Amino acid sequence: MKYALVNNFKTEAQKDLKGYCPICESELTAKCGDFKIHHWSHKKIRNCDPWWENETEWHRNWKNNYPAAWQEFPFKDQKTDEKHIADIYTAHGLVIEFQHSNINPEERNSRELYYKNMIWIVDGTRLKRDYLRFLKAFKDFKKTEKKGIYMIDQIEEVFPSNWINSSVPVLFDFKGLDELKDKTDLRNNLYCLLPVRQGWHSIIAEVPRDAFLRTTINSEWTSRTQNFIESLLPKKEQQIEIEEIQPQPAQREGTHYYDHKKGRFIKRRRF
Ligand SMILES: [Zn+2]
Repeated sequence: MKYALVNNFKTEAQKDLKGYCPICESELTAKCGDFKIHHWSHKKIRNCDPWWENETEWHRNWKNNYPAAWQEFPFKDQKTDEKHIADIYTAHGLVIEFQHSNINPEERNSRELYYKNMIWIVDGTRLKRDYLRFLKAFKDFKKTEKKGIYMIDQIEEVFPSNWINSSVPVLFDFKGLDELKDKTDLRNNLYCLLPVRQGWHSIIAEVPRDAFLRTTINSEWTSRTQNFIESLLPKKEQQIEIEEIQPQPAQREGTHYYDHKKGRFIKRRRF
């Protein structure tokens, strides 16, 4: 973990410092060696949070894009008291989880149900074949009227199978720790699989990194994504919603109305 509580303050690991875990309150040891990134480690167990994965430089770089107060946020379900550490929990209620290791669909699903308003950033450099598969499939991406939005026939030929049925947006980061000199390199962008289908098509949005950071920090991300997903819903469903919301005064009113000034019923005019 990047942070522990030291005298109740969120503190980074320093040699010989003693800290406490914000989740289980047990003692943590500062690990400040030369090889691994400096971190806090539980003394007796690997980690009290079964969803925790050992941090890589990739995790740290991503976390450091956000204010310290949002990083490694101790999250508690008010109903069940279940506790987990969210990689990022923004001031406007969005959880961002950075996933490097392999994850099975069951655990992915539990985490989505637990955090609800969340997105995944997946390290697409862990397996070489993931980017090769994406590159091969990219040639057949169908462009739409909207720039950077693509319709996909066979999503299993684009992304690893454990991510394709996610109920929240999943963004693939194929750049990892690489420095890209070529501005046209596809890996400059993130590729977001949206949790919506249009017919049998999956939808992928190409998201520039700076736009992603800007909108997740200023809170626009959630409303923009929701509006976009709603615009993709079948027209039939949209129409039903509109009909249900709109009142229908014409049917409730009679043919006459009472005029208080005149003190009598007046026949309505038809327009
Ligand atoms: Zn703990």
